[in-house]
Amino acid sequence: MLLLILLLAQAPRETAASHAAERVVVKAAHLIDGKSDAPREGMAVLVEGDRIQKIAPAAELQVAGAKVIDLGNAWLLPGLIDAHTHALLQGDITAAEYDEQLLKESIPYRALRASAAVRTAVMNGFTAIRDLETEGAMYADVDLKTAIARGVIPGPRMFVVTRAMAPTGMYPLSGYSWELHMPEGVQIVDGAENIRRAVREEVKYGADWIKYYSDRRYYKSNDPRRPLRSMVNFTAEEAKALVDEAHRLNRKVAAHAMGWDGIDAALKAGADSIEHGDGLNEELMDRMVRQGVYWCPTIYVGIWVAQGRGGIWPDMIPMEREAFAKALKRGVRIAYGTDAGGYAWTENQAKELSIMVRYGMQPMAAIKSATSVAAALLDPMCLPQAAVCPSSDIGAVAPGKYADLIAVEKNPLEDISSLEHVFFVMKGGEIIKGGEVKGGEVPKSR
Ligand SMILES: [Zn+2]
Repeated sequence: MLLLILLLAQAPRETAASHAAERVVVKAAHLIDGKSDAPREGMAVLVEGDRIQKIAPAAELQVAGAKVIDLGNAWLLPGLIDAHTHALLQGDITAAEYDEQLLKESIPYRALRASAAVRTAVMNGFTAIRDLETEGAMYADVDLKTAIARGVIPGPRMFVVTRAMAPTGMYPLSGYSWELHMPEGVQIVDGAENIRRAVREEVKYGADWIKYYSDRRYYKSNDPRRPLRSMVNFTAEEAKALVDEAHRLNRKVAAHAMGWDGIDAALKAGADSIEHGDGLNEELMDRMVRQGVYWCPTIYVGIWVAQGRGGIWPDMIPMEREAFAKALKRGVRIAYGTDAGGYAWTENQAKELSIMVRYGMQPMAAIKSATSVAAALLDPMCLPQAAVCPSSDIGAVAPGKYADLIAVEKNPLEDISSLEHVFFVMKGGEIIKGGEVKGGEVPKSR
């Protein structure tokens, strides 16, 4: 019984009491369910309360008393998942832009801006995000998550890391007079015992994930096997303590790691996802596959910031493109992650899909990356004593999953950029975009 309660306690929860008894049939000509390799035609989805009950041919799914949403010739998909965002950040091409947000904007003001960012995310069809640190805004991501879950503001389901970790002197703000006491963009931690305490503190205040910065100072090397190197932030002992403590508390770990050295160190420490990973080579990829580690490439942000940052940044664009092509061949699990917030929230975070397809990914694989694959990454860790691992409630149109559905007009398998024009969003059975549904009526598709 206790085990069952623990398992239930892990599931993302939604206050959808008002929808508890409501039954809605969503019909669309085409269905991409997020798991299957091919779309299905003429299907309908029965939603009861906040969950999907059944999927069947539309002609067979006549449910007495159910409301019907007929999306006509549209393409119905699971809500998209972005596994790397910063709701509390509003674009930081240059260090000055980053510093300005931390120095001149209060955390309440940043939270207000973040509430607009999460609204944008869900309106663009992203019904879940893993928000990968607040960049100095402390635990404001937990408050955002609470406000969304309680229906105070619209937004995606949030999986939050609160404050990322880095050692003294290895993360902004930096370069200021030593006489000034500057704010930090992360939680500064040194030494294994302090790191364990910091992990416990973050979990206490609501962290679903733990994130740390594995490396910094990226540089090109002449070694063709390791074209992008970096300086590693934590000692092996510190990084191991971080991952070990997080896993002990049933939390997965995301490692910011761009150069070969940072990725190598993160894999040795046992991190669960590699963020950015521009310096991946075949050897590291094979280790990722063996260890079941996911890659969030965040390609678009690299292109976005390169012009303004200069230095090594423009050179990393072709490096990552090459790594991406190799990763596809070697079967690395690529979870969709954009780093939205690292670029302005006015940019649609679905743009990364087009780049992934341009870099050689099949459109259906790109869609899975942003649905079922990202959902698998977000699966909670198994408790050591659990006989059955809890599986994700999101990322697919399937019975038992949350009714997180989106629709687009054009076939995304022919033109993936169609997903930048989501006209219908349902989250947990509640319509967030695409109009009100009246009992028994058949609304138009838009
Ligand atoms: Zn990021």
